[in-house]
Amino acid sequence: MDGRALAERIRAEVKQEIAELGELGLATILVGDDPASDVYIRRKHEAASEVGIRSHDLRLPAETTEDDLLERIAALNADDSIDGILVQLPLPEHLDEARVIRAVDPVKDVDGLHPLNAGQLYLGRPTLVPATPVGIMALLAEYDIALLGANAVVVGRSDIVGKPVAHLLLQAHATVTICHSRTRDLARETLDADVLVVAVGHPALVTADMVKQGATVIDVGINRTEAGLVGDVDVAAMDVAGHMTPVPGGVGPMTIASLLRDTVCAARFRRNMFAFPAD
Ligand code: NAP
Repeated sequence: MDGRALAERIRAEVKQEIAELGELGLATILVGDDPASDVYIRRKHEAASEVGIRSHDLRLPAETTEDDLLERIAALNADDSIDGILVQLPLPEHLDEARVIRAVDPVKDVDGLHPLNAGQLYLGRPTLVPATPVGIMALLAEYDIALLGANAVVVGRSDIVGKPVAHLLLQAHATVTICHSRTRDLARETLDADVLVVAVGHPALVTADMVKQGATVIDVGINRTEAGLVGDVDVAAMDVAGHMTPVPGGVGPMTIASLLRDTVCAARFRRNMFAFPAD
């Protein structure tokens, strides 16, 4: 499944929408100097500027206090030129991640992590949804993967990937199983999957013999190894799967494109083009 090609098309659509909406603003906040986070932020800004989103790259030292960070977020909430705010995670240990996420105005929460947006997703009325799950659903739609009544197995239960993608699959009428580090027999679960989404962060955790013949496999993992960038699913599973995303070139580009789409969505909510539930 070619995430690069679809992401390119989505970016072109987003560019067109922005030409109609007028200039949008996306602010990112990075606390500390985690090198992986730095790469992700730079990619997001490059993609944003290509489609006409003005981006604000706020970098704060690792020792930033929670009060200072909350003040910065409040200023961005109040800034009318900003449509989307993204706090790059993980935050340094001394900062309360849940409190920081709650401080972002939910209508600008392009990461979809604020309890209001997460709750809306849980209730089946999605507002702003994390970009990676949005990208995964777009890939499944692009390749006409049947979800109604299908067995979908999600490995990983993070707030940013596992849980939200499980909810979206459930809303698409799949029968959803969520696996995690305490799952007793992972292979038994994955072998039952018509659609298998793996978001764990362990190279080749899922091997070819854990994949059902003809299944659709979405490999979310990004692991830096001596052999280069690899996913959570052994590439040998490509021979068993009916469809599978490569790493790189699968979910990664879709995440970036979906973030741009989420920013347009947030801008529409703010301009009352879509109704945003009152908080
Ligand atoms: P995370 O917050 O670290 O969560 C990992 C999940 O995997 C947890 O729920 C954990 O279970 C589960 N897990 C760990 N070991 C397991 C095992 N042996 N068997 C079954 N489940 C296991 O990770 P994340 O933020 O969701 O990210 C997951 C991976 O996706 C990472 O490689 C990350 O870099 C990548 N990622 C890629 C993109 C993209 O755009 N391609 C976007 C986001 C993340 P417990 O809950 O029980 O601990």
